Amino acid sequence: MITVGVTGGIGSGKTTVCNIFGVLGVPVYNADTEARHLTNTHPEIVKKVSLLFGKDIYNNGQLNRNKVGALVFSNKELLQQLNAVIHPLVAAHFKVWLSKHRYCSYVIKEAAILFESGAYRQVDKVVTVTAPQGVRIKRVMRRDGISEKMVLDRMKNQMEEKEKVNKSDYIIACNDVDLVIPQVLRIHEELMV
Ligand code: ATP
Repeated sequence: MITVGVTGGIGSGKTTVCNIFGVLGVPVYNADTEARHLTNTHPEIVKKVSLLFGKDIYNNGQLNRNKVGALVFSNKELLQQLNAVIHPLVAAHFKVWLSKHRYCSYVIKEAAILFESGAYRQVDKVVTVTAPQGVRIKRVMRRDGISEKMVLDRMKNQMEEKEKVNKSDYIIACNDVDLVIPQVLRIHEELMV
């Protein structure tokens, strides 16, 4: 079985592309969604995150992500400690998930920061979803109802698209011009062999 990482900048269309793979019957693991879910529900993570940030960091069982973001923004050590709590347990969760899909030709791991986090080393192939920056900004402003500045702030921590493209096995252009489904189908046919 092959593990394929799908990545791309904010608003590039990763989830849209992964939904198409999903319709084709390919199992998709969304690393960001699973990490968020585990951060709220996994007893060991909840305990350790509460120790790092104080119990008030959870409101009705939900981690106050804005507060965490603000606290780790200027404190790299705290960010490393947080990652050291979350990453091993998410990795273990992914491993269990993988074992359930052993019978598949390939599976997808969707991760926004696949390269930045180093997780690309644990996948066999990488697909990068691309779209021009202006298009991505407009999409996220519309989808999340936020300002251009807020989108640009979120983009700051991400690797340049060019760099991701250079490190990838496949590229899917998810812009306003190219058709996305045929691009996904071409990759699917190659990976199903
Ligand atoms: P994020 O990193 O912020 O989670 P993402 O890369 O997963 O974003 P999507 O959520 O798939 O991106 O897409 C962002 C927005 O753009 C969504 O509202 C989606 O419906 C829209 N979108 C995605 N692809 C296209 C496309 N080819 N044409 C028009 N709109 C698109």
